[in-house]
Amino acid sequence: MNQFKSIPGTFDILPEGYTSGGDAIAPVRVWQHVESVVREVMSAYGAREIRTPILEPTELIARGVGQLTDIVAKEMFAFQRGKTNYVLRPEVTAPVMRAYLQHHLEQVSAVQKLFYIGPCFRAERPQKGRYRQFHQFGFEIIGTSDSRSDAETIASAVDIYRKLGITDITLKLNSLGDEKSRPRYKEALVSYLTPLADQLSEVSKNRLVSNPMRILDTKNESEQELLKNAPILLDFIDEESLANFEEVKSHLDSIGITYVVDPFLVRGLDYYSRTSFEIESDALGAQAALAGGGRYDLLSTELGAKRVVPAVGFAAGMERLLMALEVADKQNISALRPDAFLVALGDEALDWVFKTAYELRASGLNIDYDLKGRSMKAQMREANRRGARFVVIVGGDELASGQAQVKDMDQSEQKVVPFANLARELKTR
Ligand code: AMP
Repeated sequence: MNQFKSIPGTFDILPEGYTSGGDAIAPVRVWQHVESVVREVMSAYGAREIRTPILEPTELIARGVGQLTDIVAKEMFAFQRGKTNYVLRPEVTAPVMRAYLQHHLEQVSAVQKLFYIGPCFRAERPQKGRYRQFHQFGFEIIGTSDSRSDAETIASAVDIYRKLGITDITLKLNSLGDEKSRPRYKEALVSYLTPLADQLSEVSKNRLVSNPMRILDTKNESEQELLKNAPILLDFIDEESLANFEEVKSHLDSIGITYVVDPFLVRGLDYYSRTSFEIESDALGAQAALAGGGRYDLLSTELGAKRVVPAVGFAAGMERLLMALEVADKQNISALRPDAFLVALGDEALDWVFKTAYELRASGLNIDYDLKGRSMKAQMREANRRGARFVVIVGGDELASGQAQVKDMDQSEQKVVPFANLARELKTR
């Protein structure tokens, strides 16, 4: 028989955790917990949630993210129907800026703080920490070039990791300068690397022509050695960007957020200018980047806006965060336990359980019971497995007396409770 499986690089998130090809997929409650921490921290920063479509026009991503980036050149799930080109969004910053421009959000407030949580798609070779469907959360501050907004975005990301107990992180910081700085730097970098080209990998040789700054990202140790004496971007950037970089650093200093300046941090997306940053987990191996971001003042005009809309933001991977959480293992995220599990002895009792479960749920309690009509022993085992706070046992005698046996599973105590008082009893904790 044909058995369907999820597509490699995508996975199901189940109520229970499991491992799939070496990856530990966290149970859904852990995802929910992380999402609620993201929402809490974002609210603390005055950000409001935005939800944009998964499907976007391909041109939005091609223009927004940049033709020469890996994402656009080879990682888009894109297709055509009729005359329209669609893409499954590979990231959410360009969609958020599209929505901002489309709905004239600048008229709602001068500075928009928006956050999102949701799936993204990239046609990557699946490996640990790198998937085809993954999840990002992110924060965008749109409408201001104040360097405090750069610092706030960074601080909010750091806060999320701290709140989850992921403390062994490194914040890398750089400035990319304005749009005139980079061509000057690119030229210097190409002049430096061209005589060394025969020592570069095939990939880097190609990049020397197409996108030389990406060579700085290399993980190849001998190339990293070659780069030791390469020109430094910070030496080529304009005065204003340099002053701005000093401001961002001093804001971070003033709130005690530590960073390392990494002159080779250029990031893979084209829309960044000035501040660029990445947060790495010290506990993860090859795919250590938890989050990345920066200032993207040029994105709005790239998308056709008549004016520059200054903006800054970060995007973070949920899966990578969950991997770091697993390594940190400091989090005791309790399962959602039923308030009570109702145990029925006999058919008549099961009818009572069905009806009572309905009424107790309506009064706000989480209630479950065995839908297979199994033995008392099997029902008790199920109640235990689910971690129920109380077990309510009802058979013929209880139906006759109008009173249930209520077992407090934490205290291992049992008492008799009239049916009319059940809801109140189960709400005592
Ligand atoms: P980027 O938009 O490429 O800067 O990605 C931001 C963050 O999303 C990264 O730091 C990763 O944590 C995460 N991420 C990006 N691509 C993937 C992927 N294919 N699988 C899992 N996480 C990813």
